[in-house]
Amino acid sequence: MLKIALPNKGRLSEEVRELFNDAGLEVRGRGERALTASLGGEFEAIFVRAQDIPEFVADGAAQAGVTGWDLVNEAGRELESLLDLEFGRCRLVVAARDESGVVRVEDVKDGMRVASCFPRLTQGYFQKRGQRVTVVPVSGAAEIAPHLGIADIVVDLTSTGSTLKMNGLREVSTVLESSARLMAYPGNGVDARRSLEELTQALASVLAARGRRYLMANVPRTSLEQVREVLPGLNGPTVVDVMDGGNFVAVHAVVSSRTIYRTVNALKALGGQGILVTRIERLMA
Ligand code: AMP
Repeated sequence: MLKIALPNKGRLSEEVRELFNDAGLEVRGRGERALTASLGGEFEAIFVRAQDIPEFVADGAAQAGVTGWDLVNEAGRELESLLDLEFGRCRLVVAARDESGVVRVEDVKDGMRVASCFPRLTQGYFQKRGQRVTVVPVSGAAEIAPHLGIADIVVDLTSTGSTLKMNGLREVSTVLESSARLMAYPGNGVDARRSLEELTQALASVLAARGRRYLMANVPRTSLEQVREVLPGLNGPTVVDVMDGGNFVAVHAVVSSRTIYRTVNALKALGGQGILVTRIERLMA
């Protein structure tokens, strides 16, 4: 049984579970306080804090795990990155209040105190820049440290920027871009690697399908050339004869969900009929 460490709570936990469900790996048998659950077949989920997942996986206590790329980097342990899961997007940024006099990162003076839940990344970032700051490690709510007078600036996570703004902090520079990652223990054997490769492909196929839709329409044969331009599809649209005496053909294509509104209107303008758009569960190129 391969163990996959998943976040037990917090921002990532719901989306991770949803992704595994969509890939056919339903998290089963999980009570409120359960520490493990069956993921079906050969996998078992173990639920731990997102911060602890890099350690669990690096030590081989789990063969793989999902957590934020920020936490993986902060842990500084050797791990194999298998897949960017694309959700949980955020940035680790240097942020300052106007009173600090820090407008650009170059304004950070030697000796300034920087509060962060990411002391290792913070130290490394300023060290690389040749700026000698004093890191003040905190375990949460770094954004209030300047108000409490325990730091001059912060290095904190942001996605919408609203928490920073609410605390009178302005973003000054980016330390790291992050999103949820599937990672593996580098010491896994051949069989574990093969299973994890299959898991990676299953998750990737769900992610690939999420931004796409399957579109079918009947279009006049005479507009086929223009229809091809509207529907590039993965390998161009599939074109099927319709038993109507030859005036219409059915076209099928995988299209981007972001542009579906425009695509449907363009097909209508070309005389398209019976237009059908459906979700795709998985997409393997
Ligand atoms: P949390 O659930 O708040 O402990 O955060 C766990 C992980 O969610 C973080 O380490 C990040 O990888 C990710 N995350 C995504 N967006 C944000 C955000 N705006 N603030 C904090 N963490 C975020």
